[in-house]
Amino acid sequence: MTPQLLLELQLTDTAIDLLRHRMPRLPEAVAAAAAAGEVSAWERRATELAGEIAGFDAAISVSERSNEEISTHRDRLERQLKTVIVPREAEALMHEIARLNAQRAALDDDELEAMDGLAQAEAGLTEHAEVEDLLRTGAAAAAAAAATARAASEAELAELIAANDALRARLESAMLATYDAMRGQHNGVAIAKLNGLRCEGCHLDLSRGEVDTIKRLPDDELAECPNCGRLLVR
Ligand SMILES: [Zn+2]
Repeated sequence: MTPQLLLELQLTDTAIDLLRHRMPRLPEAVAAAAAAGEVSAWERRATELAGEIAGFDAAISVSERSNEEISTHRDRLERQLKTVIVPREAEALMHEIARLNAQRAALDDDELEAMDGLAQAEAGLTEHAEVEDLLRTGAAAAAAAAATARAASEAELAELIAANDALRARLESAMLATYDAMRGQHNGVAIAKLNGLRCEGCHLDLSRGEVDTIKRLPDDELAECPNCGRLLVR
């Protein structure tokens, strides 16, 4: 009775271990994580493009403001030029006006460049935005599929745990302590079936003599595998 119960307990424990190992690796969970990663990458790129646009906007504003200041200054010098009589002063003013005009031309070039950049970044953002819905819808569907798969696994796990608890309730506490300790020592498998000459725990053959000795043991006495030390059920 006890060896069979222990073997049943082992089977549910192994199933629980396997399920717990698989749950974080469910294909649906892996796909959902990948889809969420794509959304994050999309968001990072959108932020990057928005930053570029803001940078170009700021550069254009700065150019325009500087241009205005320079123009105001130049207009004032031009008005002044009309009132100047001393040739050397007029020359100095004309020189300064020419310098301001050159500065303005350089600012205009900068502004044109920034406007080109802005147009490109805006076009990039428009193109980038076209895939947003698809990515978000895909990620939401993948997340829903992952949640469904996880719920199914959790239900299965709960069933196995209930079966496990029921089996443990039928076993003596000393036997359970031995079983639990052996599971800890033998990579989760405390008890295995003797299949012909083979121990299903370590997959090694026992000698015919060893098997005969085991078979002569009373039914309720647990045998041990001479190779791996696990409990054996005949
Ligand atoms: Zn063995």
